[in-house]
Amino acid sequence: MSFKYKILGYFFKEKSKTEVHLVLLKWSSYYKDLSTVNQEIFQIRTLIFIKTTRFLSDPNFYVSPEMKIVISSAFTQVTFGLKIVALSKFNTIFIAPSAYTYQKINQLFDGDVNIKTNRVNLSWPAVERGFKISDDALNLCIHEFGHCLIIENSKRNYMGIFNENNLESYKNTAIYFINEVRADEHSFLRNYGGENLMEFFSVSLESFFEKPNEFSQKLPKLYNSLAQLLNQDPRKKEHPKLN
Ligand SMILES: [Zn+2]
Repeated sequence: MSFKYKILGYFFKEKSKTEVHLVLLKWSSYYKDLSTVNQEIFQIRTLIFIKTTRFLSDPNFYVSPEMKIVISSAFTQVTFGLKIVALSKFNTIFIAPSAYTYQKINQLFDGDVNIKTNRVNLSWPAVERGFKISDDALNLCIHEFGHCLIIENSKRNYMGIFNENNLESYKNTAIYFINEVRADEHSFLRNYGGENLMEFFSVSLESFFEKPNEFSQKLPKLYNSLAQLLNQDPRKKEHPKLN
């Protein structure tokens, strides 16, 4: 483990790291497959995210430590190859007991990133489904955190979350493939990704993590460009980080 994580590790109790470990062995197939050293780094990054995030819910809906760990692990997973360990704008997460609606919008939501309130809203049953079925390219938390990363990256004047060149080359690749998704009803990426580039990124992320082998075979160019952007390749289960 690098010096940086050794030092950071001292800030958290062994008890907390063990708790994260046990919860994630149960919930996260990504975590389960990591090498021991990477699991230790993952625990520390997840604990930092929890510490820097405010979790809210309805007064009559209890959010357990386990739920916080599961949700936070999705952020750690997506950013495992990057320097960023926490969000600065969207550091409030509201957990709803079921799908919800907004006034004046006649639609049920499982989750959304609200740029007016700077809140990430997630419905717990959808979070649960996302983790329990880990190979269907549907994971609400990965999806919503994808939106957070793109929005926060755009607000940073210097030291972006992503490497500029990698983001540029990802964008060019995405613009090409979004048209394929729009034109093909049976495309590998689900059609919702055709809505716009923002949704395309999040939908791609879900497949990138949940169906990496199929993704890399069917759309190698897009897969590689995402791998560069996130500095990780989920096919390398024990050591996904590239550099
Ligand atoms: Zn979305």
